[in-house]
Amino acid sequence: MTDSKEMPQFPEPYWRESIDFPSFPKLEEKIKVDVGIVGGGIVGVTAAYLLSKQNLTVALIDAGVILNGTTGHTTAKITAQHGLIYDELMKHFGEDKAKLYYEAQIEAKQLIEKHMDEHNIDCDYETQDAVIYTNSDDYITKLENEKTAYDQLGIEGDLIDKIPLDIPHKKALMMKNQAQFHPLKYLKVLAEESIKNGAQFYENTTAIDVEYNKHPAIITRDGHRIICRYVFVASHFPFYDGQGFYPTRMYAERSYVLAAKAAKKYPRGMYISAEEPTRSLRSITVNGEELWLVAGENHKTGQGKATLEHYQALQDFAEKHLDVQAYAYRWSAQDLTTLDKVPFVGRISAEEEAVFVATGFRKWGMTNGTIAAKIISDKIVGNDSPYEELYTPSRFQADPSIRKFMRINADVAKHLIKGKLEFTDNRIQDLAADDATVVRLNGRRAGVYKDKNETLHAIDSTCTHMGCEVEWNSGERTWDCPCHGSRFSYTGDVIEGPAKRPLERIDIEKG
Ligand SMILES: Cc1cc2nc3c(=O)[nH]c(=O)nc-3n(C[C@H](O)[C@H](O)[C@H](O)COP(=O)(O)OP(=O)(O)OC[C@H]3O[C@@H](n4cnc5c(N)ncnc54)[C@H](O)[C@@H]3O)c2cc1C
Repeated sequence: MTDSKEMPQFPEPYWRESIDFPSFPKLEEKIKVDVGIVGGGIVGVTAAYLLSKQNLTVALIDAGVILNGTTGHTTAKITAQHGLIYDELMKHFGEDKAKLYYEAQIEAKQLIEKHMDEHNIDCDYETQDAVIYTNSDDYITKLENEKTAYDQLGIEGDLIDKIPLDIPHKKALMMKNQAQFHPLKYLKVLAEESIKNGAQFYENTTAIDVEYNKHPAIITRDGHRIICRYVFVASHFPFYDGQGFYPTRMYAERSYVLAAKAAKKYPRGMYISAEEPTRSLRSITVNGEELWLVAGENHKTGQGKATLEHYQALQDFAEKHLDVQAYAYRWSAQDLTTLDKVPFVGRISAEEEAVFVATGFRKWGMTNGTIAAKIISDKIVGNDSPYEELYTPSRFQADPSIRKFMRINADVAKHLIKGKLEFTDNRIQDLAADDATVVRLNGRRAGVYKDKNETLHAIDSTCTHMGCEVEWNSGERTWDCPCHGSRFSYTGDVIEGPAKRPLERIDIEKG
C-alpha cells in the first residue's frame, strides 16, 4: 500500500496483499482423482469445496498462483444488479429465463452467506444497496425500462432522483440488500476447508489438453496426467475448447481499479454508471481506514489507448469528485463476455459427457461464478439444477448473437491482418527505460521492452494462440493480444489464456 498523491508505480491488488495464503507444490507425478479442476479462482475453489464436501477426491491445479487471477483483481460486489440486464434478458430469453437468472444470483448470494455461517468466516461482508445511476436523458428511459422489468420479475427496486455522491446524475435505480465482501478472505477459508476434506491443490501447473482413454485425463505442460472421472475447466478462458468454439463466442474486456483515500466520507451503497465510460464505486476498510474503490474504463483487451491513460482517466474522475488525499493501490484485470451476456456453464460441448466449463461472467462472477460451481458440482453428484438450461454452453440464441458473432470475428480478422501489414520503423535505440516498442528484427515483428536497469527483453510478437500480433500494455508491463485477450509477461510467459505456449524469446544479438 502506498500513501501518496502519486499513482502507485506498480499494479498491486489490495485483496491478495491483505491475506496470508499458503503456497502449493507443482504437480510432479501422475495422479488419479474423481474430479480434476483446472483454475483456482472463485469458480475452481468453490467447486473444490463443494465437491470435497461430498466425499469426492479432488485435485485443483493452477497455472500460476491460486486466487491471483481475475478473482484476485475484482471489486467484489455481490449483487444481482448486473448493470442494465433484466429488460434485455426479458426481450431475448423471455420472462421465465430472466427470472431464473435473477434467482440464480440470489441463490449464489445465499450460498456465500451459508458458507460464511458454517465456517464463521470473517470476510468484511456488508449488506449494501446496489445502484445504477445516469446523467444522460437517453439512459433515463433505459433505467425506466429496467425498472418495469424489475416489476414484472418481482425484483424489489426503486427509481430515485438523488444519490449521496457528488457526481452529476439525473436518475438512479436501486436494488436493495445486496452486499460487498473481501473475496479472498472468504475463498481462503473455502480452500482450507477443501484441504481438510482431502482436496489436493497444485500451483505452477499448467493444463494444456484433455485426452481420453477409459477416463479423461488432464495433461499438464510438464507431461503429467490427472486421470479423473470428471474434468472441470474453471480456467477463466477455457484452456480446452472441446470443439465448443469459445474464442468465437466470447470476448475479453479489461477494467481498471484505483483505491483512494479521500477527504469525503464514503456514503453507504455500491454504485455503477449506466453509461460509458463506466464508473463503479464501493468502499473498503484497510487497517481501520476507509478507502474508495473507483473502477471502470472498460475496453477490449489489447485494443485502444495506452493502458496507463485508463488509470489516468480514473484518477481525473477521483480528483474531480472525491477530494483525494492519497492513492493506496491500483490494479486491472479482464473478464469475458458471451455474445448473449449469459455465462456458459455446463458440458463443454454437447458431445463431452465428462468435461464441464464455467466462463463468460461479464464482470459479475462473484454470484455467477458461485452458482456455476454449484451447478457443476450438483451435476457431478447427479443432482439437476433449475439453471442448467439457461446457462448451457450449447444453447443457441439467435438474437443478438449472430450480429455480435459477425462483429467480434470481423474484429479478430481485422487485428489478425492489421498486425501483419503494419509497417514499423521504431528503433530500439530510441527506447526509454521502462518502455516498450514493436520493431522489425531481421524482417520479423518483435516486441522489445527495456527494463529499469536498461536490459532489453525481446519476444516474437505473434500470439501463440491464433497468430494475431500482441500490443504493449504499459499499465501492467505485459504484451496483450487484441483478438482473444491472451496476455504475456515482458519475457513472453503466459499470464492469461487462451494461449498456452509462451511467446518465443528473441536473442537481440542474434536477431
Ligand atoms: C476489474 C474487475 C472488477 C470486477 N468486479 C466484480 C464485482 O464487483 N462483482 C462481481 O460479481 N464480479 C466482478 N468481476 C468479475 C469477477 O471478478 C470474475 O468474473 C471472476 O473473478 C472470475 O473467476 P474465475 O474463477 O472464472 O477466474 P479466475 O479468478 O481468473 O481464475 C482462473 C484461474 O485459472 C488459472 N488458469 C488459467 N489457465 C490455466 C491453465 N491452462 N492451467 C491451469 N490453470 C489455469 C489462472 O491462473 C487463474 O488463477 C470483476 C472483474 C473485473 C475484471
